[in-house]
Amino acid sequence: MNAENTSRRGFLSRLGLGALSIGAIAAVQACGKGGGGAAPKCDDLTGVDDAAKATRTSLKYTDKSADPAKTCGKCQQYNAPEGGAACGGCKLFKGPVSTEGNCAGFVLKA
Ligand code: SF4
Repeated sequence: MNAENTSRRGFLSRLGLGALSIGAIAAVQACGKGGGGAAPKCDDLTGVDDAAKATRTSLKYTDKSADPAKTCGKCQQYNAPEGGAACGGCKLFKGPVSTEGNCAGFVLKA
């Protein structure tokens, strides 16, 4: 084995580790959809009527709860995302809701 082969092997090995690292980072970011990472942005209110927007605002909805024990995912009012969507819904108002979100209407799931 000469120095060139060793160097090439080392390069290919590092390349493989780099690709694995990138894949691992992408997997962790994908888990952010309801995992322990960043809360999904559920702020597209296209098609949501003014009354629902007002309710959302008055209940002080936020995509990221300040209290991990009081997230939408743990709330009785929460409708889980369907069809691979990042955001679910709420029984109190129309529009997208994050699993990690919270509002004043929170009721702990039984
Ligand atoms: S009531 Fe509030 S905390 Fe409960 S699911 Fe709806 S938005 Fe989330």
